Amino acid sequence: TEWWRHVEPAAKDPILGVTEAFLADSHPDKVNVGVGAYRDDDGKPVVLECVREAERRITGNMNMEYLPMGGSVSMIHETLKLAYGEDSDLIKDKRIAAVQALSGTGACRLFADFQKRFSPDPQICIPVPTWSNHHNIWRDARVPQKTFHYYHPDSRGLDFSAMMDDIKNAPNGSFFLLHACAHNPTGVDPTEEQWKEISQQFKVKGHFPFFDMAYQGFASGDPERDAKSIRIFLEDGHLIGCAQSYAKNMGLYGQRIGCLSVVCEDEKQAVAVKSQLQQLARPMYSNPPVHGALIVSTILGDQNLKQLWLEEVKGMANRIIGMRTALRDNLENLGSPLSWEHITKQIGMFCYSGMTPEQVDLLTKQYHIYMTRNGRISMAGVTTGNVGYLANAIHQVTK
Ligand code: PMP
Repeated sequence: TEWWRHVEPAAKDPILGVTEAFLADSHPDKVNVGVGAYRDDDGKPVVLECVREAERRITGNMNMEYLPMGGSVSMIHETLKLAYGEDSDLIKDKRIAAVQALSGTGACRLFADFQKRFSPDPQICIPVPTWSNHHNIWRDARVPQKTFHYYHPDSRGLDFSAMMDDIKNAPNGSFFLLHACAHNPTGVDPTEEQWKEISQQFKVKGHFPFFDMAYQGFASGDPERDAKSIRIFLEDGHLIGCAQSYAKNMGLYGQRIGCLSVVCEDEKQAVAVKSQLQQLARPMYSNPPVHGALIVSTILGDQNLKQLWLEEVKGMANRIIGMRTALRDNLENLGSPLSWEHITKQIGMFCYSGMTPEQVDLLTKQYHIYMTRNGRISMAGVTTGNVGYLANAIHQVTK
């Protein structure tokens, strides 16, 4: 009877806790700009049309057998093409070890576990700030973490020189976590030129780039363009790792569908690495779930459905970009003397507003607006209907 008496309640997750508080609030004007899930202009969750059509095609044709340990072969093939390019030699030469993962989170965790098992001196350098779960993932995998400069609070942009210094000063052969596009929580990405410099410096130092790509398509509206950072590193001959997720860009949040890939020196090494990734997965969950994989392979394996998907991704990205302009315009029209240029400069799902935790608390208390205390606004929760209310509230608490 004493087994669990010492167990205290866990600390609330800073992101998921926001949704809980939002749901508990009965105020009619309440706004949730906390969680990073896309909403339409009525604030409703979206099931993409390409997903509905894929489901129609799947129904009746599906069995419930286990997937292979590494997951759906056709899903992985299509997913690698998105990250590495349709005509990638790495894919042709079978140099990429890839397994289906439990969305982006699962892909990151599997990689962290792989590092722990096979790196003689595992460590990971993480940007400041980053998605809070990155810290949990590498902590639970028992891989020591360091940080590198990324965001510049004054400019609300990239602290490029400090970032480059940290890359230069890190011990040779360090592992770095990079957000491929639409950095969470800041919405600040390096430019193409900056990515080239970063890649060059990684070459000089022999660092390992691990790309977390949770928002491919959400930054520019075009998945191909959003993969540019990765392509630059590949052109420079880096052996990268990559976590991909279909949560956001296909709206498959709850399906937990994604992919982990590791570029190897040759096919033989890729076979070995893949077998070890499967070996890590086997005692945790044996093999990954089938339904989301079937949705993805059905969409990406069909020219028309893939085209429809590309249009729908663009539609989601464009709505968000429009809301950035609307939010900034509203704030400026209210006469806010502060600069809100960063709202439209930042990209992807999030706007790092620069509001303090105290200002966020006021927004919640006085205006029933819910967001993380780091001032991160999920632009996906902003709509034509609430942008005016949101802008006014932000203006009031930042005066
Ligand atoms: N990485 C980043 C940077 C994210 O923002 C997210 C989603 N919040 C993920 C990974 C993983 O999400 P999921 O596991 O739902 O794919």
